[in-house]
Amino acid sequence: MDLDLLDTTLAELGQPAYRSGQVWEWAARGAASYEEMTNLPAPLRDELAAHVPFSTLKVESEARSKDGTVKTLFRTADGHAVEAVLMRYRDGRRSICVSSQSGCPLTCTFCATGKMRFARNLTASEILDQALHFRRVEAIDHAVFMGMGEPFMNFDGVLVAARRLPELGITPRRMTISTVGWMPGLTRFIDEVEEPIRLAVSVHAAEPTLRSSLMPVNDRYPLTDVLNECRRYVALRNRRVYIEYVMLAGVNDAPSQAAALGRSLGPDAFKVNLIPYNPTGFYDGSSRDTIAAFKAVLDRARIPTTIRLTRGRDIAAACGQLAAVSA
Ligand code: SAH
Repeated sequence: MDLDLLDTTLAELGQPAYRSGQVWEWAARGAASYEEMTNLPAPLRDELAAHVPFSTLKVESEARSKDGTVKTLFRTADGHAVEAVLMRYRDGRRSICVSSQSGCPLTCTFCATGKMRFARNLTASEILDQALHFRRVEAIDHAVFMGMGEPFMNFDGVLVAARRLPELGITPRRMTISTVGWMPGLTRFIDEVEEPIRLAVSVHAAEPTLRSSLMPVNDRYPLTDVLNECRRYVALRNRRVYIEYVMLAGVNDAPSQAAALGRSLGPDAFKVNLIPYNPTGFYDGSSRDTIAAFKAVLDRARIPTTIRLTRGRDIAAACGQLAAVSA
């Protein structure tokens, strides 16, 4: 729900300030309507239902994977597409992947969102409404800002939303913000955010020419600067930075490229997460053996490396596949 509109509406109705907190508490615990908010006077519940839409987003469609993953396509009030995903893991973890923008202006060549038209930053309430939607389905405990868009181009919206997620049951240590290395946002994150939210950086190639060809943003904010800024974070906060590396067959998956990645990262500051490429029509994904060989090189360089578990591939809900067809 639009939390600013909620506050102004409550003020116009002459309601005490604590009402806003009451409404939010219900919403954060998964209430599906104002009707359920039994500590609010019934006439007030009716007024709110008439003036403050319960969600800023309308559900347009929902897809379910055989692994339990759910992908939801929403529309903002002004008609822009937003996708979010609920991932269910065997150990009981429930993780949501939320979008920070409708579309993305950054045109990474392997990413489906980069191919769709960029609309705008989402408001904090629009980001929270993705989470609240899934909270109404079941309890959730992890969140990743890895849906559509570049979170650090929408720093304020993302941070306002992230700071409310603990009330939905997601602690900062269980949140991850993933960035291409958008320096203005990265610098603000390091200087301003004291909560232990995890930081992940999409690297995908250590070599500058290759990285620029995959991620044009590298021309503007080169990887060396981004990694140095990350080292400042590691020193200041004493937390490692996660490196994302999507495995593209014959493009960035050779052992020599793993060695180059290891050299640019160096020991102690980073953990690498290798991402199996999810088909979006532009590249072939590396084979399991190639990914294992790449990991072995990093292991020898003593860089902690894991391989990401893919969820929701059959419903195009996996990493980099979020791009509303109807957008
Ligand atoms: N803009 C941010 C967050 C969104 S993308 C960022 O780039 O980090 C989240 C992750 O999915 C990024 O690491 C991105 O590079 C990766 N990704 C994009 N397309 C993919 C695909 N088709 N298969 C696997 N990972 C992909």
